[in-house]
Amino acid sequence: MTKVLYPGSFDPITKGHMNVVDQACSLFDEVIVAVLINPNKKNTFFTPDERVKLIESIYKNNNKIKVITSCNASVDVALENNCVAIVRGLRGITDFDYEISMQQVNKEISDYKVNTICLFADPNYQFLSSSMVKEVFNLGKDVTKYVDDIVFEKMKVKKYGNKNIR
Ligand code: ADP
Repeated sequence: MTKVLYPGSFDPITKGHMNVVDQACSLFDEVIVAVLINPNKKNTFFTPDERVKLIESIYKNNNKIKVITSCNASVDVALENNCVAIVRGLRGITDFDYEISMQQVNKEISDYKVNTICLFADPNYQFLSSSMVKEVFNLGKDVTKYVDDIVFEKMKVKKYGNKNIR
């Protein structure tokens, strides 16, 4: 059974991330989506547990997907969970530049036990990021083009409480 780890912040999970999850699901037997806690990212919108719950509700009917959270390095999380590789999504040259160094570091710190597989974002999602979603949402706009309805609903509750909002 081939298991892979898809690590990230997922604050929140977007349709771009979901596209990478779909691609990984069609290639591997199990995909572990890992919400990793990055101490450098202080101003988060959702707590790690809220992010895990959102991803779990989106994929509640897909038994190939498991969702976890961890403070550990992605290579350690991959090894702890017997994953054959880390999956990352590539939008363009900026992601590529970052991922090429990250995959090398991850190989070295895991004694060449953990490899990285990059999957390409569909053109529709090439310019989509969690930070862009948060910016547009904070301008009071509907972001259902970019995130699952479950995520948009939770963003509204988080920002405005349970008031009757559009
Ligand atoms: P990070 O903490 O590295 O910013 P993210 O949570 O934003 O991680 O994203 C996790 C992974 O998903 C990364 O590999 C990132 O490049 C990828 N990703 C983010 N947005 C998209 C998108 N729109 N399409 C494809 N991949 C994406």
